[in-house]
Amino acid sequence: MSSRKIDNLILGGGITGLAVAARLSEILPKSSSVETLIVEKSPFTGGLCRSVAKDGFTYDYSGHLLHLRRPDIRKWVFNMLDGNLREVSRDARIYSEGRLTKYPYQMNLWGLSGSTVKECLSGLIDAHIAARAPKPSGSFLKWSLDIFGGGITKNFMKPYNEKLFRLSAGDFNAEWCGGFVPRPSLEDALRGAFSDAHKAVGYNASFFYPRRGGIQSLVDALEIRARRVCEIRAGVFAEKIYPDSKRAILSDGSEIKYRHLVSTIPLKDFARACGMKSPADNLRAAPVVCFNLGVKGNAGHGVHWMYFPEKKFNFYRVGFYSNINPASAPAGHYSMYVEVSFPSGKRRDIARALDGAVSGLIDAGLIGSPSKIVSLDIRPMPNAYVVYDFARANTVEKIRKAVNGKNVYLAGRYGAWKYSYMEESLAEARAIAEKFV
Ligand SMILES: Cc1cc2nc3c(=O)[nH]c(=O)nc-3n(C[C@H](O)[C@H](O)[C@H](O)COP(=O)(O)OP(=O)(O)OC[C@H]3O[C@@H](n4cnc5c(N)ncnc54)[C@H](O)[C@@H]3O)c2cc1C
Repeated sequence: MSSRKIDNLILGGGITGLAVAARLSEILPKSSSVETLIVEKSPFTGGLCRSVAKDGFTYDYSGHLLHLRRPDIRKWVFNMLDGNLREVSRDARIYSEGRLTKYPYQMNLWGLSGSTVKECLSGLIDAHIAARAPKPSGSFLKWSLDIFGGGITKNFMKPYNEKLFRLSAGDFNAEWCGGFVPRPSLEDALRGAFSDAHKAVGYNASFFYPRRGGIQSLVDALEIRARRVCEIRAGVFAEKIYPDSKRAILSDGSEIKYRHLVSTIPLKDFARACGMKSPADNLRAAPVVCFNLGVKGNAGHGVHWMYFPEKKFNFYRVGFYSNINPASAPAGHYSMYVEVSFPSGKRRDIARALDGAVSGLIDAGLIGSPSKIVSLDIRPMPNAYVVYDFARANTVEKIRKAVNGKNVYLAGRYGAWKYSYMEESLAEARAIAEKFV
């Protein structure tokens, strides 16, 4: 067995792992002899932030839009993409009752039927009068009722999130909501119920997206920097990790002794590799299959993405690459991503899901007929949405405690087992790299 001693071992060559090494390349002295290795299980780097060029279309693993709120991260991304970035003012909608209303639902009831508006507003007023303190660690259902009241919960919050997580809204909590679910004042909700003119609200009122090459351009830029200071071994994974002796055994049989370990691989796989089987078994995620479609014709609208709370549609969200960036599709065509989630740990019937998705798209008027689909690309994401069930927080804490003080950094959406996005990954990665210098 070959054995090698290095400074930094990074598990996973997605955006988080690459960004740690990219940042190191910027802050290590030129003469530095620090050795860093990224070990990536798949043959390709990039993880979920990859893009595919197919049939003249550019698809991501479902649209990956850059929400850049932190000035330091915005500056970093702008520098790396060097002009290959466009800012887009969000146009997001909810499709329900056969109509499109503006996102977020709770602030834009305008356009819904009179009875739904009445139900939503009276529930919201009741919730404001009751003024209960919502508890994110309690059930999502209770949290939503406390904040939004019965109508908004029944018509959007409950059905949408149950479809996304494939769990009853009483069985997961609201700890993931943080900045992702805007909370309206009564005044805002009333204004949004009685008029169409409403300011864009929420975590993504405008966003950025590459002009060329899809989101992969960002991971490519990170990888160029990462390779200046680091070796990347693709097609290899960490089979066993011994945090006490700071060693990992890779799937090619080699041993790596490290000073620091950054793990961005799914926390349950990390825990298993460390021999912590029972915590690993307690971590659940809702898998998603993304159907990327290229369609002949014109989308007929400029919406960037739509949420689908109703049960009759098997997808929870549909986005339009070609509205986000017209260069994503050839002339005379449009392109979309259709996201269908599945219950954690159950067999997935992808062919059936695709049939259901196409029927739903026709029903919602988003494609004319199946014959208009000229390109199909299917991207399964086995851990897409971390499930915030009531075991999650303790389990994550248990794993963290087991490696505490052993120079292990658990980072990224899956490494830290949380609901997060690319900007957060980049920020975490920078902070970790800066500790190593
Ligand atoms: C449907 C969906 C839509 C999203 N949309 C957005 C969006 O619009 N904007 C946004 O900012 N974020 C979005 N995200 C979140 C974004 O995808 C993540 O925040 C980001 O990809 C996390 O990157 P990562 O490097 O931490 O993880 P990953 O991308 O999962 O990378 C981890 C890498 O580790 C590798 N790996 C796994 N196991 C091992 C092992 N044992 N050994 C070695 N390597 C291993 C994997 O192959 C992978 O390459 C979305 C996520 C999903 C699921």
